[in-house]
Amino acid sequence: MTHVYGATVDNETRCTHYHTEVDIIAIKFKCCDKYYPCIHCHNEAETHPPEQWPADTFEQTKAILCGVCQHEMTIQTYMQVTHCPNCQSLFNSRCQLHYHHYFDV
Ligand SMILES: [Zn+2]
Ligand SMILES: [Zn+2]
Ligand SMILES: [Zn+2]
Repeated sequence: MTHVYGATVDNETRCTHYHTEVDIIAIKFKCCDKYYPCIHCHNEAETHPPEQWPADTFEQTKAILCGVCQHEMTIQTYMQVTHCPNCQSLFNSRCQLHYHHYFDV
């Protein structure tokens, strides 16, 4: 299984900050190449500032992990779907409000 760092509260990537039914993805950070459930988890565990993925990496970079089935997808795929393409689990649509923390959008 892919290791998810941070303040996780279960095996589906929910954390102390975001832990509703639909909070089931982790995001790999460009700066440290580690999966964290959210930006707060990253910033509490790391001493460096978070780096956002540049737009030209969205198509190629697999930086999103589905916590339910462990499927990794590209940033572009993640932005286009509402459910996991592999296990159909619903993702949290409110994550869109936080894209700028993770992606250079
Ligand atoms: Zn980092
Ligand atoms: Zn968190
Ligand atoms: Zn899945």
